[in-house]
Amino acid sequence: GGAPIGVTGLAVMGANIARNFARHGHTVAVHNRSFGRTQALISDHGSEGNFVATKTIAEFVASLATPRRALIMVQAGAATDAVIEELAAEMEPGDIIIDGGNALYTDTRRREAALRERGIHFVGCGISGGEEGALNGPSIMPGGSRESYTHVGPLLESVAAVVDDTPCCTYIGPDGAGHYVKMVHNGIEYADMQLIGEAYQLLTGVLGYTPAQCAEVFAEWNKGVLESYLIDITADVLAQVDAETGAPLIDVILDATGQKGTGRWTVKSALDLGVPVTGIAEAVFARAVSGSRELREAAHGLPGGELATTLQEALPNIDEATFLADIHAALYASKVVAYAQGFNQLTAGSVEYGWDLKPGDLATIWRGGCIIRAQFLGRIREAYAANPDLPSLLLDPYFSDAVAASTTSWRRVVVAATSVGVAVPGFSSALAYYDSIRADRLPAALLQGLRDYFGAHTYERIDKPGHFHTLWGGDRSEIRTD
Ligand code: NDP
Repeated sequence: GGAPIGVTGLAVMGANIARNFARHGHTVAVHNRSFGRTQALISDHGSEGNFVATKTIAEFVASLATPRRALIMVQAGAATDAVIEELAAEMEPGDIIIDGGNALYTDTRRREAALRERGIHFVGCGISGGEEGALNGPSIMPGGSRESYTHVGPLLESVAAVVDDTPCCTYIGPDGAGHYVKMVHNGIEYADMQLIGEAYQLLTGVLGYTPAQCAEVFAEWNKGVLESYLIDITADVLAQVDAETGAPLIDVILDATGQKGTGRWTVKSALDLGVPVTGIAEAVFARAVSGSRELREAAHGLPGGELATTLQEALPNIDEATFLADIHAALYASKVVAYAQGFNQLTAGSVEYGWDLKPGDLATIWRGGCIIRAQFLGRIREAYAANPDLPSLLLDPYFSDAVAASTTSWRRVVVAATSVGVAVPGFSSALAYYDSIRADRLPAALLQGLRDYFGAHTYERIDKPGHFHTLWGGDRSEIRTD
């Protein structure tokens, strides 16, 4: 006997995932540091299925069927370490601890290695979809040993979101792979949201649309290639009216974005790996700019030069309908770039840590349940199915055609934005990345010359192999250094 699964940490995420297990017919043992939350869960939702309420960790572990499966849903960091220690002390070799929190993948690697020494499986498991997803079907990204997946996979798959009869949960890879993938998912989410924000800013700043009009535009866009959860809720947020002032809610929300860290972690890892994730980085920095209150107050009103104030001034020959289509095209192309970069980071991380990640599988389980869920992920899945070794999504025929068809619009949007003085770091850096990777020559040659000049760093030549150094301080002849 005993419960096939237990959940400890019954704040919003843990309570909802416990209910999700119960609703799917699994007996679920529940535990929380303070018993009040456990009691509240049972009294409010006990009728939804079979819950086993436990007061202590010892009681919790004892209530589980072997091999024991305990899902931790507490704050990432020290709290997670403390709970792991309490659980492990009561467990036996072969038991499985699952961490469903937003742990940093390096912590997960450390925890997995330490528990493996003790014979306990540790499954670092990314869970996306917020509280609603946890209750009704999240996207689940479990890492750890393959053996542990045979014990937890079917349970997790049974509560995950489902798209085209496929659960949004699959084995990701060893040790920190699941949390790494969840981290990059969140980084991509940052980029996605930044791009949506820039589109909104152009609709208001160049076309002069009201939030209600913008809401209609996003609702319309949600019927096409941009169809996604984030575009859908963008329309909803923009249509909301503030009860207190009667103004659009968006106009009374303070324009300073918070962040909990996963975007920053993504960029730090990308920097270490040398993978350009400009879309995610610009999104993280744009949040930081928005939150720099003192700087923004001090800099407010700095001259912006000669600015256009209307679309006609910015782009004399472009009408409103054309520019509206332009913004859509720029948003779509920039989104393709952000995802292409994110997937390149996943591939690089996989090589670095020996995870053997399958990009197509990740696109598959992100189609539903998670915050970036979208039709679009189905296209990414198809791209990797056609070529698992695709060097960039931008080289997949479907995406390269789509981006090629967008480039003229994309450039016009960046021109218009700079003409009116609206910052579009996401759109413009995505275009810069696209222009860089497709360029014939980059100014990198000059940089190599400079580096050789001041630091004798040497350079390679386009016409013959080897490394070379020019004797800048001498007779300026060239020597081969290898
Ligand atoms: P919180 O992150 O707010 O964590 C609260 C829970 O942690 C409570 O159950 C609390 O117990 C417990 N806790 C805190 N410190 C300790 C400790 N030292 N020992 C034991 N228990 C402790 O809850 P959420 O539900 O928001 O999130 C849970 C996890 O899921 C987090 O890692 C979060 O990052 C992640 N996550 C959250 C998402 C979201 O949308 N909120 C989405 C995806 C993942 P007590 O009641 O006794 O205080």
